[in-house]
Amino acid sequence: MHKVLACLALLLFPFSAAFAQLNAYFVNVGQGDAIYLELPNGSNVLIDGGPAGKPIVDFLKSKNVTKLDHVVFTHPHSDHYMGLLKVLENFQVNNFYDTKIDNTDAGGDDSLRKMAAAEPGCKVSYPEAGDQLPWDKNVTVKVFNSCSAPVSSANNTVLNNCSIVMRLYYNGHGILLMGDAESEVENAIMRVFKSGLNSTYLKVGHHGSRYSTSAKFLERVQPKVAVLSVGQDNNFGHPHKELMDRLKAANTQIFSTVFGTQSLVIPAPKRGMQLLVNGVPEFGGLAADQSAAEFNMEERVETGVESEALQQLRQQAR
Ligand SMILES: [Zn+2]
Repeated sequence: MHKVLACLALLLFPFSAAFAQLNAYFVNVGQGDAIYLELPNGSNVLIDGGPAGKPIVDFLKSKNVTKLDHVVFTHPHSDHYMGLLKVLENFQVNNFYDTKIDNTDAGGDDSLRKMAAAEPGCKVSYPEAGDQLPWDKNVTVKVFNSCSAPVSSANNTVLNNCSIVMRLYYNGHGILLMGDAESEVENAIMRVFKSGLNSTYLKVGHHGSRYSTSAKFLERVQPKVAVLSVGQDNNFGHPHKELMDRLKAANTQIFSTVFGTQSLVIPAPKRGMQLLVNGVPEFGGLAADQSAAEFNMEERVETGVESEALQQLRQQAR
């Protein structure tokens, strides 16, 4: 009888073990951001959608996603929202989180906001710095930045600095997601939030721009792993060499979506599992030196030019 019950439990809750860990995917969408999270309680989150529909829609389908519990639109630049337009077209979205800045140079952000407002059963909200989002009772999700009062601008720095910045904290590890926030925002976050910035994982702000991720900020965050969401051959020279030097000086392992989608796992408490980056144990173990960049190297297509900093990163991974 017990066996039957056990089998029944497996049938009813086949994914419970998988859901006890937190999975994060930094999806290779080219030059842009799209971060997909599977929370321990089984809910899911998408933060930005990248610059086009196909990569993110294909990725979500490969994960058998039909609905998204939470979609975060960090700020109205096309490398973050173009993919979201297709996501809203293809998937049920239950909660949509937005920042109150209108990009006066673009229409796509207006279309996306109209779609979110019209999405059946979808709640639109505007989180503010200091808010905690109740996504999973075992994961602390704290918002560090957004524009909570309405602004209109076509200025890229102003738009970037309205990015929704948030940190997820689970089982002793933080994941800090910077959007495209620049150093002014980092300084403000450090002034306002005296503690709680420490994060094992940092999604580096603004695709590795030199104007984000200051040495001072790295000192406060103390990331072990930095993820660069960046496209090959991008027009901005991202990631900039100065930023890469700062990350290296901070003894951070560097991973980039240019090598493919980067994934990480924070295990459930007391499961005796190691942290994983791209399926490889990250700290201390024998495989710790095999970086994720290396893991994905073979599948990478070599084309065109890339920034000097990226070339260096690739050589290091070899
Ligand atoms: Zn961007």
